[in-house]
Amino acid sequence: ALNNPMNFLDLEVLVPKKTNSLDQHFEAAIKRLRDEGRYRVFTNILRNAGEFPMAVEHMTGSNRKITVWCSNDYLCQGQNPVVLEAMHKCLKIHGAGSGGTRNIGGNTNLHVKLESELADLHDKESALVCTSGYVANEAALSTLPSLFPNGAIYFSDEENHASMIYGMRYSKLNKKDIRVFRHNDVEHLEQLLKTADNDEDREKVKIIVFESVYSMSGSISPLEKIKEIATRFGALTYIDEVHAVGLYGKRGGGVCQERNIEMDIISGTLGKAFGVHGGYIAASSLIIDCIRSYAPSFIFTTSLPPVTLAGSIASIQYLKKSSKERELLHAHSKLMKKRLTEEDLPVLPSDSHIVPLFIGNASKCKEVSDTMFRDYGLYVQPINYPTVPRGQELLRLSPGPMHTAEKIEEFISAAKTVWKSFGLIGYSELQKKL
Ligand code: PMP
Repeated sequence: ALNNPMNFLDLEVLVPKKTNSLDQHFEAAIKRLRDEGRYRVFTNILRNAGEFPMAVEHMTGSNRKITVWCSNDYLCQGQNPVVLEAMHKCLKIHGAGSGGTRNIGGNTNLHVKLESELADLHDKESALVCTSGYVANEAALSTLPSLFPNGAIYFSDEENHASMIYGMRYSKLNKKDIRVFRHNDVEHLEQLLKTADNDEDREKVKIIVFESVYSMSGSISPLEKIKEIATRFGALTYIDEVHAVGLYGKRGGGVCQERNIEMDIISGTLGKAFGVHGGYIAASSLIIDCIRSYAPSFIFTTSLPPVTLAGSIASIQYLKKSSKERELLHAHSKLMKKRLTEEDLPVLPSDSHIVPLFIGNASKCKEVSDTMFRDYGLYVQPINYPTVPRGQELLRLSPGPMHTAEKIEEFISAAKTVWKSFGLIGYSELQKKL
């Protein structure tokens, strides 16, 4: 029974239930989520190489084919034969694990090679590979302020990802030195920087923290203006390009590359457009040397395994040369937004490849997602609080090179029926609210 391929949550029936006096608190915590309709159930799917965007439903044992609409393997690099071949080869040659932390036995030629690929991708002197994109943000942002004897102030976009928010919080800065500006509002940012020109704040290093592509709204930040403000105020810039690397710029170096703008520190992931796993920052050699030397979540953990590194290297090299995948992704995303609008489905304004479909209610969002999955075999995960603010619940679609016009029509036809049966808000009505 332990091999039962059911959702892991079902395994609880196999384990004799022990209770203790604290269980009531754990139960209450879970109940709160259930009551709000945002208790998370992991959809269990089988991804078979070569079949994306199709996958197999694994939860019910039905082996039904479903279409995945919410993958961050944006370009299907996770199934690119070039990447798989590199990983197969590497496993045979170098084995499974890295054998240690970067500092003690776990620094290999592949780590060095991947970092030099990444530095080249971003036209930076150096890069540092971390366990994930989350850890890269956390490592860098929790460490940076400690490098400045007079302290620092973070200026953080209000839509920044949790990994950046927690990174800033884990730094030893006082709360008042983490100042949040309204999303993409450069006037607000400038105003906050101006008010930091007093005796208490003047000597503190100013660090502006933001993303290029915001993963839920799909908005793109005003990079040029932020850069100009940063230069004027002598601030450091920290940009998360996690949802842009591989997808923007002529070599896949992100929005900074596309617009030819230099930021001081770029963070990225190897787990989304590059289709593998891991994260990194790219910056000057001096900054990288500091994070490498001081960040606990980089220092005290086993480094990534060789297979992951080899796959990432192959994927980056491939996407530096090949633009056809990203061109197709952008074409499909544009088509999908156009068709959703034409069919009065409430697509939110998005400057990027991400296609957010507004629902605005946590339980409805979950029910719509469940219906699309159950009745139409279309998998799109509901996005609820805290990933988005309450009342802004949505379905986040990520069309890729393999989501053809036919697939898009299939989704739209199902969504039209579901929207009608739930009485959900349409595109034209949403415009009046925005
Ligand atoms: N930054 C942003 C904006 C993200 O959306 C995510 C992941 N969802 C991360 C960082 C973390 O990246 P990873 O998945 O590689 O940990």
